[in-house]
Amino acid sequence: MTFYFDNSATTKIKPEVLKEMMPYLTEEYGNPSSLYGIGRSAKKAIDIARDKVANLINCDKNEIYFTGGGTESDNTALKGIAYRAKEKWNKKFDNKTEEIAENNTKNKIKKNHIITSKIEHHAILETCKSLEKEEFDITYLDVDKDGMINLQELENAIKEETFLISIMFANNEIGTIEPIEKIAKLAKHKNIIFHTDAVQAIGNVPINVKELGIDMLSLSGHKIHAPKGVGALYVRKDIEFDSFMKGGHQERNKRAGTENLAGIVGLGKACELAKENMEYHIRHVRGLRDYFIEQISKNIENIRINGSMEHRLPGNANISFIGIDSTALLLELDKQGICCSSGSACNSREATPSHVLTAIGLDSEMAKSTLRFTFGEFNTKTEVEYLIQKIKQCETKLKII
Ligand code: PLP
Repeated sequence: MTFYFDNSATTKIKPEVLKEMMPYLTEEYGNPSSLYGIGRSAKKAIDIARDKVANLINCDKNEIYFTGGGTESDNTALKGIAYRAKEKWNKKFDNKTEEIAENNTKNKIKKNHIITSKIEHHAILETCKSLEKEEFDITYLDVDKDGMINLQELENAIKEETFLISIMFANNEIGTIEPIEKIAKLAKHKNIIFHTDAVQAIGNVPINVKELGIDMLSLSGHKIHAPKGVGALYVRKDIEFDSFMKGGHQERNKRAGTENLAGIVGLGKACELAKENMEYHIRHVRGLRDYFIEQISKNIENIRINGSMEHRLPGNANISFIGIDSTALLLELDKQGICCSSGSACNSREATPSHVLTAIGLDSEMAKSTLRFTFGEFNTKTEVEYLIQKIKQCETKLKII
């Protein structure tokens, strides 16, 4: 039997989502670009899904572009805006253009600066690293002991060259939620585009992009009970960006490649359910998480809860078991059918301590004693009681060894 407490790594597809997808995996297999009947119905299904995704975050459906997941959405957002900026400065710095002849200093500013944080997901950090090799200048903001960025430091980091700020909505390891509305306000005031990686936040926090002032947002299907390999990028209507995938004209020329029809339909359904269930979902996973933390704190000495308790994803518990090797504990728990994570799923096979835990000030020893438990809609209190009991047993065993 599996006891799954790793809902930030991925989630189980909901039966309603699978049901909605099934026709598009079987008889409704048309290519959405085809003009005949099953092609047209495929296109219509994508349009309906687009509406549902837009409805979850309160944007226009034409502001949603389907992608192959969170990583692709992040790459599209950053590279899409960066390459558009580069195209502009290449034109401006071409000596033959009239703009330079006019000696208009404002136009001479090379907009090549991006601000992000040290605790972003690798999808953002590695994209930034690759942009650094292409004449872009990146500032990686520090975070405090809870993983929060400092708004004053963000403001101080802004230069005339800054064209993009990308700060994650909520962190995948420690669950800390960043001050998104304030960041968006500052970015708007300085005329800078604001992108947020909301892969972990979506479905766990109500998000209204218009109210929050977000310009671009990445989301991924498999974190909200849709399949893996499908995601979306929201881009505010009047923002121009380049397609980084080259090929066909799908997604209004912004994402080449035949659409993942069934995946998109599944994502649409998952977004619809996330909107309907949001209140229940938050109450349920927060209840389980709070009970877990309360019991673990009572029953196990020498633990440290990482991340902000005030500004935190409802289902996230990130705990350092001081003096215990987290990989050993994870494997002991695995023997009992328990799934949890020693770092984010993407780097849990790496020997180096997590960059997020390092950024919040944990030394390597402490970082390597840390496990993440993330609760989901399908978890029950009985399962959480089993988890607590098994952690107690395994922790005692490992302490003796
Ligand atoms: N961004 C964050 C914050 C994530 O947690 C993840 C996945 O864990 C991603 C991006 C990548 O999403 P995907 O797995 O859909 O590529």
